[in-house]
This record gives sequence, structure tokens and C-alpha cells, in this order.
Amino acid sequence: MTNLTSQNWQVKDEQYVWHSMKPYNPNATMIVQKSKGAWITDTDGKRYLDAMAGLWCVNVGYGREEIAKVAYEQLLENTYTPLSVGHIPAIQLSEKISELLGDDYVVFFSNSGSEANEAAFKIVRQYHQQKGHTGRTKFISRYRAYHGSTMGALAATGQAQRKYKYEPLTPGFIHVAPPDAYRANEDHITDPSALLSVQAIDNVMTWEFSETIAGVILEPIITGGGVIMPHEDYLRGVKAVCEKHGALLIVDEVICGFGRTGKAFGFQNYGIQPDIVTMAKGLTSAYMPLSATAVRREIYEAFAGSDEYDFFRHVNTFGGSPAACAVALKNIEIMENENLFARSEEMGAIIYAELQERLKDHPNVGNIRGKGLLLGIELVSDKNSKAPLDVALVNKVIGLCKEQGLIIGKNGVTVAGFNNVLTLSPPLIISLEEKDLIVEKFTNALNELLQQP
Ligand code: PMP
Repeated sequence: MTNLTSQNWQVKDEQYVWHSMKPYNPNATMIVQKSKGAWITDTDGKRYLDAMAGLWCVNVGYGREEIAKVAYEQLLENTYTPLSVGHIPAIQLSEKISELLGDDYVVFFSNSGSEANEAAFKIVRQYHQQKGHTGRTKFISRYRAYHGSTMGALAATGQAQRKYKYEPLTPGFIHVAPPDAYRANEDHITDPSALLSVQAIDNVMTWEFSETIAGVILEPIITGGGVIMPHEDYLRGVKAVCEKHGALLIVDEVICGFGRTGKAFGFQNYGIQPDIVTMAKGLTSAYMPLSATAVRREIYEAFAGSDEYDFFRHVNTFGGSPAACAVALKNIEIMENENLFARSEEMGAIIYAELQERLKDHPNVGNIRGKGLLLGIELVSDKNSKAPLDVALVNKVIGLCKEQGLIIGKNGVTVAGFNNVLTLSPPLIISLEEKDLIVEKFTNALNELLQQP
């Protein structure tokens, strides 16, 4: 079976595997056979530099023997214990997460980013119930953001193209526009200063009646919606508004966490301390499925009553398995030993500066933005009008990168015509040589676009 030719793998793949999407090339599935460091190899033996780290997740790079060893050893030492009981790797990892968050948090484990957000919504609703605020059920989230695929996380998501075929979703989610400096002034809602965007949340809470608002969920930087940068003051403003109205602030760090933006967590760039933080992806660098919902101790303590209905009625069988927690601990140890958060900040700044320099005169490059190794390049057909570049041309750039052995991403909001942001989110371990390859090949692909009929 493993001796099938590349073409036969393609045929069998078409026959049996239901792909969620075809991220690298809309016209053909790519079958990956091997991966190491920042590189993946397909069944034809062609190597690609993976500047998306899978789905923004393989932060320490592929094929780390020390992580594989820890998983192997932990599976033999203690294969499974449910988290209604306890086990040592979960204790160690919770303490480590709390330390990285920079305050006193208690950690609930699940398997995916979506589940971590679902757990957060349930914790917030129950927290208010137990505090006697039984009317506080509604959440505010932002248009253009993605928070996951399950009914609640999808309800929080602000991208209609992912939602409309699955309605009705979980009720009780209200959306507001995020600040978007590049497209400010195109309408009366997005604004570069953060003031109006913060005011919008304040207003919604008042108009909806504060006593019905449970919380706000946001990513520090909107990632899957097109790397939309907030104004420096935005998160501080939103936190203050939450406090004013008695709502809890959930920060979704599924992509931004674990060094992606140059800090342990994305919110640490913006001087706030969230009530709840959700994380996945970089937590294990995708070596095992694991996610976490970290809550401030005061929230956790609201669940500590003696009544049997006081505890959090939420179980997932695999969440926080011993091997996944042990893998996460080793992954974080590697990040700390190799100084990968600072490295992400430095390497991201270099790529940003080099792309700015090389692409500043390119007629289709409207905006380059990002923090750390999280970068978005917004393509337009005209720099003055900022009209989004036709998606066929955006896809062409992705194909031209792929031909040269470079994997990049594309994000945005299809229904609004903004499916025009190319994304770079490479493993945090990339070398200077690999950085050069990314800049070189990416620039070549964009320049080639100009030569094409
Ligand atoms: N939140 C954010 C910000 C995400 O980017 C994602 C996934 N890309 C999720 C939540 C959902 O994570 P998962 O796919 O692991 O359920």
C-alpha cells in the first residue's frame, strides 16, 4: 500500500478523503509524505518551504525527535486518565500556561480551538448564572473574525460565507466591525483611531441593555479574516468597556498564541489582561491535538460551591490527555530554550521591512502589515481605489509561489469581495537563509503576475 505511485495516491485521495478545503492550490490536492523543520515533501519528492506552518500551527517546525520521544514515553508511562481525575502532565502544563499568561489562571483542556471557545462561552454563561446575573447571555464578536467550526464558535465568527448554509446557529451573538486602519473611512464604521470601534461596542452594550451582555470575544489581531491589525489602544478600550458593563473579555489566542506575534500571547502586545484566554495550534505545535481555556481564578471560584449543580457540566473524553499535555510541555520548553518568541519578533520585522522595500512600488500591493511572524499582504487592482484584486489573480500568485516551492496562505471575507490577503505564518524556527527564500520567491511571484497576460 505504501508503494503506490504519486498519481495513485491522488486517485485514492479523490476517492475517499473529504477535504475541508484545498489550501495550497484550488485545483489539485497535494499529498504530503514527509516534513522536517520548515519543509514539507510531497509524494513526487518535491520540497516546499511551508510559510504557513500547516494551518498557522507548527510553530517549532516539523519532525522534532525530542517531542516524538516525549509522546512515546508518556503513552507508555500513563496512556490515559480523564480530567475528571488528574494526572501529572496536566498539572505541570496548567501551571506553565498560567505563568506564560502572566497572572493567576486555572486551565480547562479540550482538543481543538473551536472546543476551547465553546467551553469559554459555556463558562461565561454559567459564571453569570452563579453570580445571580441570570439575564447575561449575549456575546459580542466582530465581523471578519473566525472563531471555529462548531455551532457556537461559528455563531461568533463574523464571516457569512462560512455560516449561511448552516443556519440557524447558536443564538445570542451580536457582531460589530473591527477597526481596520487600511480601509478606514471607506464607511462610517471602521476607523483607524480605535475610538469609534470601542465606542461601537460600548453603544451596543447600552442599547442591548448591559444586564443581558455576557461577554466579548476577540482575537488580538484578526488572523483568518486577513491579518487585520488593531490600533494600539483598541484592546485596552474594549477591556475598559467590558468592565464598565460587567461583561467578561475572552481573547482567542488560537493563532496569535505561542510566539506567533513575537510574544507568548498576542494580547501581551497591547497591555491588557483578559478574563479568559483560549488557545490551541501553537500550544503543541500540532504534534498532538490539544486546546485550553484559561480563566482568571476569580471566575473559576464561582464554580466552587457545594451544590452539585455548581460545577462545570462539560466533559470531553480526550481533552488534556497525558501525552498531549507532555507534548505541549516539551514544545513550550523548546520555544523557551530557543528563544522563539523574540526570534519571531525579530524575523517578522526583517521580513516586513524587506517586503516593504521590494514591493512598495508594486501596483497590486495595497498594504503590508503584521506583527512577528504573522504577516498579511493585501492585494488590490488599484492602489487609489483599493478595489480588491480579482481572486483568480490572487490564486495565481499562490500557484506561482507553489511552482517555486513556497507555500503561502490566502485569507479574507469572500462575501464582501475581500478574499485578497496573502498570508505568511512560517514556523518560528526559520533560518535567515529560509527567510531570504520566502522574500525572494514571494516577490518573484508577485512580479511575475505583472508579466502575465
Ligand atoms: N479561533 C481561531 C482564531 C482560529 O484561527 C481557529 C482555526 N483556524 C479556531 C479558533 C478553531 O480552531 P480549530 O480548527 O482547532 O477548531
